[in-house]
Formats: sequence, structure tokens, C-alpha cells
Amino acid sequence: MQRCVVVGRRCPSSSSAIIEKNEREKKKKKCSRRSRRSSTVVGNNSDNDDDGRRRNQINLKANERANERRKQAVIELSKREEACKGYCNLCGKTHTLERTREAEEVAKALLEKLRKQKSVSDEDESGQFLVEDVYDQRTGGKMIGVLLCETTTTTTTSERERKVLKAFSGQWMGEWVVPGWCPPLARLTHDSSEYIEEREKIEKLSEEIKKLEKEASWSSSGSSGTAATAVTELKTKRKNMSRALLERIWDSYSLPSFRKERKMSESDDDDNSDNSNSSSSSSSSDIKNNRRKLVELNIRKCYYGDASKLPCGCGDCAAPKLLAECARKGWKPIAIAETWMGPNVKRGAGLREEGVFYGACLERCRPILGYMLCDAALELE
Ligand SMILES: [Zn+2]
Ligand SMILES: [Zn+2]
Repeated sequence: MQRCVVVGRRCPSSSSAIIEKNEREKKKKKCSRRSRRSSTVVGNNSDNDDDGRRRNQINLKANERANERRKQAVIELSKREEACKGYCNLCGKTHTLERTREAEEVAKALLEKLRKQKSVSDEDESGQFLVEDVYDQRTGGKMIGVLLCETTTTTTTSERERKVLKAFSGQWMGEWVVPGWCPPLARLTHDSSEYIEEREKIEKLSEEIKKLEKEASWSSSGSSGTAATAVTELKTKRKNMSRALLERIWDSYSLPSFRKERKMSESDDDDNSDNSNSSSSSSSSDIKNNRRKLVELNIRKCYYGDASKLPCGCGDCAAPKLLAECARKGWKPIAIAETWMGPNVKRGAGLREEGVFYGACLERCRPILGYMLCDAALELE
């Protein structure tokens, strides 16, 4: 199972369901290979036993060192000036948005307000977005982010209106869209009909595979060979379908930046023509001012690193949701704060404690935040 160092819980992305299965299968294979290896070694001679113990000790020490490095990285990234930062593919610079005391106060006040409420949303008539769910000892805990912004409603900086955007990482206990909170950056999420249809097809294949495997285990050795071939073929088909669905999910991630240009090049414009994110909660009047300038790219184009290996959950954390909404509204981001809400949890990357502020995560957020912050520091027109 993929885990997000900042989100601190199971990967929230729609893609996790697919990746999860592949990872489980990979792990199973690895484990069986390891146990096969160890079973041939154990009992053969004591030298090999000693070698194995030494190797284990070396591995343990390497793991400890890696964990320590991760913890140190989290501490480093949690510094105010490091809160939201990344290298930008567009202009070749590193862009930064700090966490200020003011943003921290706003985030603290939000947490306090939420704790007193029944629902996480002021517009939750059906009562489905319960605050208490985030305190579930087993599944609870969520990174909450606030973004202080300036609007373009007046011309002088001193009179500009301050706004606050809020976002949670991933889903709110299974829901991507919660009124009053920033929407997801992916159009294709697990609750969209396109996704549901594809998942159903994949699940049907899984059932078929299970049935065939059961039949093969009961039948005589002659027919089990045919069944095994059929199972292999179906598994390949399922793998290809899962991969294709995963690619479609990544295709649906559209990320704006604060860049002023209409487009980067003719080809980019063509590529992005069907990538605009219609799930944005920005009002039409907000967008009207900015539409001429808004540049949105597919997540693969703005990711700094190997875009063919996008980490599961990339684009689902609070920081990218906040920046996207701010850019689409034509506002200017001033400061950010991300804090943990829910029970304290211990993760590989360290402890998540309620009310403590954390920086944007290393694997998922930082490779896209540089692009998203491009030109964010410029004065509004
Ligand atoms: Zn993140
Ligand atoms: Zn830039």
C-alpha cells in the first residue's frame, strides 16, 4: 500500500485502488522469493546462517538510517520558509510560498471551529461530512491547509481584500467534493461514472480469474493446464486495463499556475484544449477576469522529475488544491499553513500530531509546486 508522508494515511488517489493491487502482488512475489531463498539456506550450514544474520543487521541499520533521513527531511521541510516550495519547469527557478504566523493563526482557528461543529461543511444539509470521522483511531487523521489570498477587487494593495481558501488532503472520508472546500484537481475520481464503469469491468475479470483458479485446483492435471493458460491471459488483460485506467486518471489532472502567458507554445495549447478542469468551484465572474491568462497543464507536464513514474496521490494534497483554486479565481497567494487534524499517528516519516504545522510533502507536492507557484509573487493587475 502506498502511503503519503504528509497525508500520513492510505494514498487518497483514485489510482491507489489499482496500484494497491499491483503492489500487493509484487510484495507477495518478493516474500515468496525471499522465503524460498531462506528455506534453501537455513539448515545447510552455519556460515550461511551467520551471513544471513549479518545481512539482516546491515539491512536493519540501512532502514534505520533511511527512516532517520526521512524524519530529518520532514523537520527541515516544516520550517516556515520551506513550507511550500519547488523547482519550476517553466522558468527554471525555485518558487517559494512561506507559512506565516498569520496563516498559522487562521489554520488554528479553523481547527478550533471545526472541532465545535458537527459537520466539516457549513453547507452540509445531508449531514454526511462528519467532523467526528477524522478522529477515528483506526482510519482518522487528515492534513488541513489554509491559503491566505488577496483579491483583485480594488486597485491599491492596501485596500485589497483578504480571502481564505481551505483544503484537505485527498478525500474527506471517501468524498472528494465537500462544499466550502477546494475541489480535487482530477476530473476522473472514484465517484465519476467513467471510473465506476471501468472498475466494474476490471472487477468482473477478477471474479472470472478466481472462478477459473478454483476450477483448476479441483480438476485433473490435464485440464488444469488449459485453465492456467486462460488465467494467465485474463490476468494480463486485467493488468492492461488497470494501467489504461490509471493513465486516464493522470490524463484528467489539470493544474494551473499563476503565469501570465496565454500559452507556452502552439503544441501546448493544443494539448491543453481538453484539459481544463471543469470541477473548479470558482464562480464564473471570478474566472472571467482571469480566463484570458489562465494556463493549465496536465500534471505530467508540470511534474519536475520522471513523469512516467508519478507518485500515487500526486496532486491530491491540500497545497496543490489551494494554489489551483487561488489561480483560477485570479487571486494572489500570500501565505500557506498545513496542519494535522485527528489522532496522533506514527508514520515512517515521523509523528503526525494535531495542530503541528508541516511542510508540503517531498514526493508528491514539491515536484509540482514550483510550476504551480510560477509568477505567484507578481503583483495583481
Ligand atoms: Zn503532499
Ligand atoms: Zn517559474
